[in-house]
Amino acid sequence: LGMLLGPLQWISQMINWASHALSAADRVFEIMDTQADVPDSRHPVQIEKVRGEVSFQQVTYGYEKHHPVLKDINLHVKPGEMIGLVGHSGAGKSTFINLLCRFYDPDEGGIAIDGNDLRNISQTDLRSQLGVVLQETFLFDGTIAENIAYSKPDASPEEIMRAAKIANCHDFITRLPDGYDTRVGERGHRLSGGEKQRVAIARAIIHDPRILILDEATASVDTETERQIQEAISRLVKGRTTFAIAHRLSTLSNADRLVVLDQGKITEIGTHNELLSLKGIYFKLVEAQTELSKIKGVEG
Ligand code: ADP
Ligand code: MG
Repeated sequence: LGMLLGPLQWISQMINWASHALSAADRVFEIMDTQADVPDSRHPVQIEKVRGEVSFQQVTYGYEKHHPVLKDINLHVKPGEMIGLVGHSGAGKSTFINLLCRFYDPDEGGIAIDGNDLRNISQTDLRSQLGVVLQETFLFDGTIAENIAYSKPDASPEEIMRAAKIANCHDFITRLPDGYDTRVGERGHRLSGGEKQRVAIARAIIHDPRILILDEATASVDTETERQIQEAISRLVKGRTTFAIAHRLSTLSNADRLVVLDQGKITEIGTHNELLSLKGIYFKLVEAQTELSKIKGVEG
């Protein structure tokens, strides 16, 4: 169940984030009820447009009592900075993101955006500031335009097209049988993994959050698709505070700082080159991936 809870929560959160009810997604609301509930502040601070400064101060959190999976995390992120989260499986990367999305509150310490503790920000405000692009993008049964305009149902066709162009998906959309009016989702036209990712990027561009979370944003796709996705992502992250988790470390090498988590603690922080010269965990992870890609005979 532990394995399932993460992705399900993401889906529920995505649904939650739409400010209006989506009839096609009714059954997902059942899943939403499993969401861990954190109380909304009775007197939330008003945040309209944040700058996107994020700080973790002495954050400790465990899913179970006396089993912290994040320990004493301190991290100060400047507005617009891109942070790559790196570490072995189980190191605490997703938990870090879960706390930033406030699926849970820290047991100790606090997380703040522009100096405001998450517990004092209303859930609605928090969601409007946070954008998420996941590996497994959730498309509902509707047109592709509706899927892109997810967070802003009144977006104009021009706005949707502009976002799609930035996200490198305009071309494949215009090749679909009904273009932007093509029905997608479970009962509609099936998009490939790489296409779905670019729709998710277009969605995030319309949403226009100050803080962005990219979780395993690069699936196994061909080199050209990968290039298009990377290009779209670099346009998307520009000017936004970004937290990115990726299995393929090469996609994170342009991050301003890489944060290495090991058994719930931050053990290394620095740029790609700085961490390589440390010859620590990051170095070993990169080395292991380079070896792996040689064996597989692919670039990576
Ligand atoms: P990563 O994303 O780096 O692989 P996670 O943050 O998912 O790591 O997991 C950190 C630790 O927390 C692991 O030991 C994992 O088993 C545990 N964990 C993750 N999610 C849950 C959960 N919902 N309930 C209990 N334990 C969990
Ligand atoms: Mg994870």
